[in-house]
Amino acid sequence: HVSTKPPPEPSPLRKAKFFQANMRILVTGGAGFIGSHLVDKLMQNEKNEVIVVDNYFTGSKDNLKQWIGHPRFELIRHGKALPVVCLFLQIYVTEPLLIEVDQIYHLACPASPIFYKYNPVKTIKTNVIGTLNMLGLAKRTGARILLTSTSEVYGDPLVHPQDETYWGNVNPIGVRSCYDEGKRVAETLMFDYHRQHGIEIRIARIFNTYGPRMNIDDGRVVSNFIAQAIRDEALTVQLPGTQTRSFCYVSDMVDGLMRLMEGDNTGPINIGNPGEFTMLELAENVKELINPEVKIITVENTPDDPQQRKPDITKAKELLGWEPKVKLRDGLPLMEEDFRGRLGISRKK
Ligand code: NAD
Ligand code: UDP
Ligand code: UDP
Repeated sequence: HVSTKPPPEPSPLRKAKFFQANMRILVTGGAGFIGSHLVDKLMQNEKNEVIVVDNYFTGSKDNLKQWIGHPRFELIRHGKALPVVCLFLQIYVTEPLLIEVDQIYHLACPASPIFYKYNPVKTIKTNVIGTLNMLGLAKRTGARILLTSTSEVYGDPLVHPQDETYWGNVNPIGVRSCYDEGKRVAETLMFDYHRQHGIEIRIARIFNTYGPRMNIDDGRVVSNFIAQAIRDEALTVQLPGTQTRSFCYVSDMVDGLMRLMEGDNTGPINIGNPGEFTMLELAENVKELINPEVKIITVENTPDDPQQRKPDITKAKELLGWEPKVKLRDGLPLMEEDFRGRLGISRKK
């Protein structure tokens, strides 16, 4: 029997919060790649106060150095050794963290396969217990909460391109499951808190995103190829090389996430760039734009690698008035500049 009872109406407190002028916004994972760009954008609005919670597993304080000491900014650091359950409970119990928040952007979770597979148990705890705790916080404070889910919920998709109605093709016991299934449970928790407790939720299904501040050695394909091209190392295309991805520049991603948070739709909504490339094409683009001398080689792939991935963004266009603006060939050079700066290798004359 399926209940037809509508979810409870948001409380007057919750509605009032959304319309009030000043916003206290929590960004979990705000020291990471996407999170720090989101913080930059949120801080541009002087009515926003931004609080970041991060354990620096894959993020870095450096990404936020421009805001440290700013009166509208707060950074809450937790040691790597702390289990995630303690990490989030601190929000609940420690004095400076017992604050009212109006919005929660919940990004905390390693995003690169080498990092999320490094400690899979911690990855799934972050997704499940971390999201549960953030929903508990949303419930207590009446905040609206946005989860950054992922195109990985579609697994190795049998439908192409992927729209939000597709339920996915995920291996529940594979080496990527801590991430894929973790995010799927996180989505379930979001909808159960929404239906049962009237929590205002937003779910973004993010497709591959790239841009400045990506971790240089995180093994993701765009960061790998750019770092390899700058270091004069061969670009490592994992076999077969015909697998596809669609790459969204980070400023477009942040714009999409903020529109989703401010709009009326719970989602899930795909946010990504529908421009689809094979990994060989990506390597050729990087070679041409960054280092025409560099070699392209093929290497072994890892298990369960999705063979194709491209978002259907009809829903984002219709419901959020959003579509990406930055083309891959324009975004790659913007990232090159940042990588050269961090690697200390300037362009050859
Ligand atoms: P990232 O690894 O750069 O950032 C994640 C941040 O979360 C880091 O600062 C990390 O230190 C922090 N973190 C990890 N575990 C934590 C924990 N237990 N407690 C507190 N902080 C923790 O990754 P990103 O690319 O910025 O991704 C941000 C979000 O977007 C993630 O939720 C990811 O799943 C999602 N996403 C990203 C992509 C992408 O292509 N970048 C694609 C799909 C989904
Ligand atoms: N929680 C939190 N911060 C808060 C409120 C709750 O971290 O400000 C945690 C809480 O410890 C619990 C989870 O969120 O583990 C879910 O909270 P909820 O109130 O839904 O569940 P309950 O505490 O009733 O089990
Ligand atoms: N990949 C590659 N060379 C690399 C790293 C990755 O060809 O040095 C491929 C990988 O096999 C996958 C695609 O690039 O097909 C995207 O991998 P990434 O880890 O960036 O992201 P995800 O698999 O999570 O989409």
